Amino acid sequence: MGLPLGEACLTLVVVPTASYRSFHARVRRREALSPTFTRVTLEGPELADFGGVCLDQRAKVVMPLPEGVGFAHFPRGDDWYGQWRGLPEGQRNPFRTITVRDVRPEQCEVDIDIALHGDLGPLSRWASTCAANDEVVLIGPDARVAESSVDGIEWRPGPATQVLLAGDETAVPAIASILERSNPELLGDAYLEVPLAEDRLPLPNPTGIRVHWVVRGDRPHGEALVEAVTGSAVPPEVTSEDVLWEVQAGRGGRFAWVAGEAAAVRAIRRHLVANGWDRQHVAFMGYWRSGHSEA
Ligand SMILES: Cc1cc2nc3c(=O)[nH]c(=O)nc-3n(C[C@H](O)[C@H](O)[C@H](O)COP(=O)(O)OP(=O)(O)OC[C@H]3O[C@@H](n4cnc5c(N)ncnc54)[C@H](O)[C@@H]3O)c2cc1C
Repeated sequence: MGLPLGEACLTLVVVPTASYRSFHARVRRREALSPTFTRVTLEGPELADFGGVCLDQRAKVVMPLPEGVGFAHFPRGDDWYGQWRGLPEGQRNPFRTITVRDVRPEQCEVDIDIALHGDLGPLSRWASTCAANDEVVLIGPDARVAESSVDGIEWRPGPATQVLLAGDETAVPAIASILERSNPELLGDAYLEVPLAEDRLPLPNPTGIRVHWVVRGDRPHGEALVEAVTGSAVPPEVTSEDVLWEVQAGRGGRFAWVAGEAAAVRAIRRHLVANGWDRQHVAFMGYWRSGHSEA
């Protein structure tokens, strides 16, 4: 039977259905963790519903348009992307993919850690200049939707007890969060390439996974990481292929998770597959591609 019109039963409870949505927030603080890493803490009442699984949870940070335009044109609602695409180019806010480093729903706060790489792109530029109270939008998991605890998370070791993690500085936030939150009984190795020795961040790590920091120094991006993981000094081969994204949930005794610059990820993938790693037990993710903007 329909609701009787005009009677006092007009309370509408809107049940969210999309596991990802936009969260309007502000910068609470910006903190340098090392010469390369900057942590930006975001706050705002909407973040009370931001999903808190973390691990390698991906999200997007949407940055303001210049000259005071901010988010005047940024669409709200589930179809934000479709509407954003329909805007004239000058009204489209730039956005980039990041990892959710930490979530404190009771304080309505989210941390993201950005690897600065100069003035080359909007994310790096924003992370090195944003200030307290600046407006920002996160596209991330909505804790009220059950699928949000699995969507956008590729760390799925399943029953594996032996794991291999490898990544460059863009994957350090994900690897740090994975180590912090994983089963303490996991064993294996984590290789992290960073530009400088000072970028070797303290990593709380209750697991049996050994952490190997690889300092890049003057070497080309990814070369030292590939060498550390494969034992071979062959430089990653830059190809024109699309960014690699091949992910599976672990089903056996071991699981590999590799993320970072696409050519290095591809080189590590080639080595692992050649050495008997089953493609069913690996997640290979090109987080960015040298010489190409994410957008
Ligand atoms: C799932 C996922 C999770 C990610 N998590 C994080 C994260 O938590 N923290 C983080 O910092 N990054 C993370 N990244 C990587 C980040 O999205 C890219 O590095 C992105 O291109 C940076 O945007 P930008 O606006 O600074 O540069 P863009 O405008 O995208 O690119 C401009 C130029 O800079 C180059 N470039 C991009 N990134 C780097 C880099 N790190 N070092 C050197 N040159 C670079 C590009 O090749 C291009 O030539 C993640 C990516 C994915 C897909």
